[in-house]
Amino acid sequence: MTIQTPLFELRNVEASYGPFRALFGVSLAINEGKVLALLGANGSGKTTVARVCTGLVSPTSGEVLLGGVRVDGLKPFQIARLGVVHAPEGRSVFASLSVEENLVLTFRREFGRSGVQRGLDRAFELFPRLGERRRQIAGTLSGGEQRMLSLARVLVHPPKLLVADELSLGLAPIVVDEVYRTLETVRATGTTLLIVEQYVGHALGIADEVAVLSKGVIAYRGPAGDVDDLAEWLLPHG
Ligand code: ATP
Repeated sequence: MTIQTPLFELRNVEASYGPFRALFGVSLAINEGKVLALLGANGSGKTTVARVCTGLVSPTSGEVLLGGVRVDGLKPFQIARLGVVHAPEGRSVFASLSVEENLVLTFRREFGRSGVQRGLDRAFELFPRLGERRRQIAGTLSGGEQRMLSLARVLVHPPKLLVADELSLGLAPIVVDEVYRTLETVRATGTTLLIVEQYVGHALGIADEVAVLSKGVIAYRGPAGDVDDLAEWLLPHG
């Protein structure tokens, strides 16, 4: 039996903010094409894991590997170039520009003038709703649509790993459904996903595997099963 090299792996990662230690020996592995949901109570360290994955926080010890090759120590832009992309938190769009202008700005920088149309075609194929609203001012889109626009801007080069950090934060439940349908689309393009989430039900609906953080430690790792099985791990431990 051959053992598959995980697409992405954290091995025994410790991370700190100054004297405050946020992660203690965190190990995670995600195989290519799979979806891992990282769950946990407020302050358990989920965002810190996401930041370590994308190089925004350097581990104080341990290893981060992409396709078996160490990437800890690289700068965030270098990690992004290797295909590990942080889905922007919040609604990182230019509110006063139209949907199309937002996309054109990004694609012109990424592909040059000649590649803009190719970028737009891909964005509207991934997110038909954005195509319908291409002339609408981005600031007037719904919260979910703005998040789609943010995603379309980072998904121009299909990433190897998309780290989706609390994409549903602050959105109405119905919009969260929409954002998750978007993630299904992203997954269908072959992108591996690390979903950091507080909406447990949604995350479990898409995930193959689940890891639960508690006070900077992985308290549970296993296949995405019933939320009831996870309740014990998701409740803050005193
Ligand atoms: P939430 O769901 O509330 O966002 P989280 O599980 O994502 O929480 P983190 O944001 O990773 O948790 O925070 C883990 C711990 O690290 C928390 O105790 C937090 O206060 C601390 N922390 C996070 N960012 C910083 C920072 N920039 N400086 C100092 N401490 C930080």
